[in-house]
Amino acid sequence: MSIDAKNYVIPQPPQAAIPVAGTDKFFPVRRLWCVGRNYVEHIKEMGNDVREPPFFFAKPADAIVPDGGTVPYPSLTKDMHHEVELVVALKGGGRNIKPEKANDCIYGYGVGIDLTRRDLQIASRDIKRPWEVGKAFDHSAPCGPLKPAAAIGHPSKGRITLSVNGKVRQDGDLNQMIWNVPEIISKLSEMVELAPGDIIMTGTPSGVAATVAGDKIECVIEGVGKLSVTIGPPLK
Ligand code: MN
Repeated sequence: MSIDAKNYVIPQPPQAAIPVAGTDKFFPVRRLWCVGRNYVEHIKEMGNDVREPPFFFAKPADAIVPDGGTVPYPSLTKDMHHEVELVVALKGGGRNIKPEKANDCIYGYGVGIDLTRRDLQIASRDIKRPWEVGKAFDHSAPCGPLKPAAAIGHPSKGRITLSVNGKVRQDGDLNQMIWNVPEIISKLSEMVELAPGDIIMTGTPSGVAATVAGDKIECVIEGVGKLSVTIGPPLK
């Protein structure tokens, strides 16, 4: 449905978007999905059963923070954690996508952080409430510039690291994912119809830890790119 801008009763909200590396182009973001529990060592550090399949949750698209940005320390938490993740950006979609067709849906890749209010996430988990309070807060999804698959291919291995103030905290490899990217797209497309503009954060390796105001966070995925953000003071 196409609606003329003058017929909206409030100004149209801005379109979330991620820059394409080395260009003046942007990838418009429709929805942001995240995969839980996709690296064995992270599942162990969270005290969960490695035999359980990963699962999905979402963040609002407007939670994206660009490379070089500042994340205000969020409200309500005393334990915000970093989770560095490979980001997959979709140019295609559909329902019940077969893994062997999934790469055809991919525009490109980037580096992201699934920021988590760990204290609130665990409290929600323990009383079987939804995870939004722990996962889907403002500024909770820093994403670096995307690189098209046409330029870098489809990375299935490569070092993934996150450093805080120059000290490496998370250090894994994309080949440690339990479910690979085509399998993630296939599984997610059984749950919802995927569409161009959807992005997916594909889970984090071990080493998640608290981050505080003043921290400078740097993430690198070999062959994909970089992301730097600063944690700022809470908003007044
Ligand atoms: Mn995560």
